[in-house]
Amino acid sequence: MSSDVQHFVGGDSVVGEGGREGDVFNPATGEIRAQCAYASAEDIDDVARVATLAGKAWAKTSIAKRLEIVFNFRNEFIAARDDLAELIGLEHGKTLSDARGELQRAVEAIEFACSMPHLTKGEYSLNIGGEIDNFSVQQPLGVVACISPFNFPAMVPIMMSTMAVAVGNAVVLKPSERVPSAAVELGRIWQKAGLPDGVFNVAHGDKEAVDALLTHPGIAAVSFVGSTKVAEYVYEEGCRHGKRVMAFGGGKNHMIVLPDADLDLVADHFIGAGYGSAAQRCMAISVAVPVGEQTADALVERLVPRVEALQIGPYDDESADFGPLITSQSKQTVERFIDESVSDGAELRVDGRGLELSGYENGFFVGGTLVDHVHPNMSFYREEVFGPARGIVRASDVDEAIQLVNDHELGNGVAMFTRDGHAARRFFEEVDVGMIGVNVPVPVPAGYHNFGGLKRSKFGEGYLFGPDAARFYTKIKTISVRWPAPTDDADGPDMTMPTND
Ligand code: NAD
Repeated sequence: MSSDVQHFVGGDSVVGEGGREGDVFNPATGEIRAQCAYASAEDIDDVARVATLAGKAWAKTSIAKRLEIVFNFRNEFIAARDDLAELIGLEHGKTLSDARGELQRAVEAIEFACSMPHLTKGEYSLNIGGEIDNFSVQQPLGVVACISPFNFPAMVPIMMSTMAVAVGNAVVLKPSERVPSAAVELGRIWQKAGLPDGVFNVAHGDKEAVDALLTHPGIAAVSFVGSTKVAEYVYEEGCRHGKRVMAFGGGKNHMIVLPDADLDLVADHFIGAGYGSAAQRCMAISVAVPVGEQTADALVERLVPRVEALQIGPYDDESADFGPLITSQSKQTVERFIDESVSDGAELRVDGRGLELSGYENGFFVGGTLVDHVHPNMSFYREEVFGPARGIVRASDVDEAIQLVNDHELGNGVAMFTRDGHAARRFFEEVDVGMIGVNVPVPVPAGYHNFGGLKRSKFGEGYLFGPDAARFYTKIKTISVRWPAPTDDADGPDMTMPTND
C-alpha cells in the first residue's frame, strides 16, 4: 500500500502497518482525488511512543525557545496561506475567499498561543504562615490527542494544537479523513519553523484510530471537535480511560429578530451567517425566530429573493457564494431533512434540492433552501442540518423566543437583532447558550476569549481557545516550601491540624 496521503510521524511521512485506506473526494466533481492511509491500533501505539519521547525533551525546552518556534510557525503558516487555501478548496469545497477567512482566524489562534508565558506563569504567595511560601506551577500534560472535524481543515486543528504545543506538550492530530491533507502540511510547516521532530504528529483514520487514541495509556488528554453524538462518545470513552477530555459538538443557532430591528440588515446577516460555507459551520445561523407575524412576513419577503439569488459553484469560481457539501451522503441527509420538513407541514419557500451544475453534474451540491413555518417538533428543527437549508420558526413574543432557544438540546451560538437594549440585556442574561451575539450574527469570540458552547454542544470543561485552553493543556501543582533558619531546633511532632497562624 502506498497511500497518497500518509501519516506524519517523527517528522517523516509514514504509511503505517494498518493496511487500510480511504477515498478522499473532490466534492465539486464527485471524483476521488487521493487515497488516505488509516491508522491501526499498532500505528497509534507507534506514534504515541514517538510523541512521548519527543514530548519529554520539549517540555524541558526553555519557554524562550518554544516561543521562538511558535513565532516562526506563525510566519511560515502565513507564507503557506495561498497553497493551503487551494488545498482546502479542493478537498473541502469551500470557496477560496472562505478558505482565506478560515486561515486568517487560524493566524489569530497562533498569535494568541504566543501569550502562553503570561497564561502559565503560575502564582506565588509569600509567607502564608510560619515562614512558609506557597506557589503553583503549570506543567504540560505529556501527549495530547487532537481529533478534528472536516469543516475547518486547518483552523480547528490549529486552534486545538498550537496552544497544546506552545505550553510544552507533544501532539497527535487525527484530522478528519475527508480532508486529511491540510493537517500534513501543518506538520511540514512546524518542521520548517524548527519544531523538533515528533512533537507534532498526524495520524489519519476513522473510528479505529480514534478508539486507539482514547484507550492508549500514553495519551494524557483528548480535545475533540465534531458532531454531538461522536463528541459524547469521545468524552465518555476518554474519561473512562482516565484522560482529561474536552469534546465540542454540533450547534443549532437561533437568530431572534425583534419587531424593532432593521430587517434589511437582518436579512443580509441571515444570508451570510446562514448560508456561508454551505452552512457547514458549527456557528452558522440555522433558524430565524422572528417575533410577531408582521415581523415574520416582512422578513420572509426580504429573504426569499436573497436566497434565490445565491450563486453556487466550485471553490475556484469567484462568483460563487458557497460550494458543495462534503460527501454525497451529506447531500442526501440535507435533502432528506428538507423532504421531512415538507411532509411535517412546513412551507418550502425556496427549494435547493436536485441542483445540478453544468460541468459538475456529479458534485455534492445543494442549492440555497428556505423553509417557513418550521415547528419545534420537526426533525428539521430538532437536528443540526449541516447544509444550506435554513428555517423560520415564528414566535409570538420574546418570552417564547427565549424559551425556544433554551428548550433546544444544543447551545453553541445564538443571536438577537434589536435596537432595544433592555430586551437584549435580558436576552443574554437568560439564554442558555455559550456564545451570544447582539446584532452580531456569528458570535465567535476573539482568540483571547474562551470559545465553547453549553448543553450538548460541549462535553467536559475546557475551551477550544482562549485563556482556559492553556489551563486545559497543563496540570497545576501547588508547592509549599519552608527553609528553616540554621538556628531552628526540632521541638517534637505537632499532632494538631496544621493551620496558617
Ligand atoms: P464527525 O463527528 O463525523 O467527525 C469528527 C471526527 O470524529 C473526525 O475526525 C472523525 O474521523 C471522527 N469520527 C467520526 N465518527 C466517529 C465514530 N463513530 N467514533 C469515533 N470517531 C469518529 O464530524 P464532522 O462531520 O467531521 O464535522 C461536522 C460536525 O462538527 C458538525 O456537527 C459541527 O457542528 C461540528 N463542529 C463543532 C464545532 C464546535 O466548536 N462546537 C466546530 C466545528 C465543527
